Amino acid sequence: MTNGQVINKNENVMKFELVKLPYAVNALEPVISQQTIEFHHGKHLQAYVNNLNNLVQGTKFENADLETIVRESDGAIFNNAGQILNHNLYFTQFSPQGGGKPSGKLADAIQTSYGSFENFQKEFEAAGVGLFGSGWVWLASDKDGKLLITKEANAGNPVTKGLKPLIGFDVWEHAYYLDYQNRRADHLKDLWKIIDWKAVEARY
Ligand code: MN
Repeated sequence: MTNGQVINKNENVMKFELVKLPYAVNALEPVISQQTIEFHHGKHLQAYVNNLNNLVQGTKFENADLETIVRESDGAIFNNAGQILNHNLYFTQFSPQGGGKPSGKLADAIQTSYGSFENFQKEFEAAGVGLFGSGWVWLASDKDGKLLITKEANAGNPVTKGLKPLIGFDVWEHAYYLDYQNRRADHLKDLWKIIDWKAVEARY
């Protein structure tokens, strides 16, 4: 089993790498502090990457892409692969210039499914607040472009249900506890201020 460090005697290049942040570590303050980014991205996500690189060696997932591993694995491989996929989507959906409202066909689909953008935000936040323990709340789309809000425990991702993930809010305490302590609802409400709608629309 893994001890959380990259140890690979046979390969020089590790298959999975830590996703690069598209902003400075302090750029999302005060919604997400530099300290939270440094722990969340630099320690938690790095550990998932190191773990998966060790775990897939010698398995049928050794040369598989991340999404395939998440769809087809279980146990420790699923947990670490799922958390890498989740956090890659999470960290690349924010911008210090974020906030506002979506536009184009995503805005239209939100209007159709939820009546208004404000009502969508309310339902999404309620799903995150209502999730017991650690997990994720997602906005996802099906093959027809229909939108769904899904709650996933632990490392879950909508790709396991054949859906495309568009927005993921991390409700593990490591995502917000340094900045918001137990105030998960306040944190989820504030995340809208840094959502990069252009990045989200590109996924739809
Ligand atoms: Mn996290």
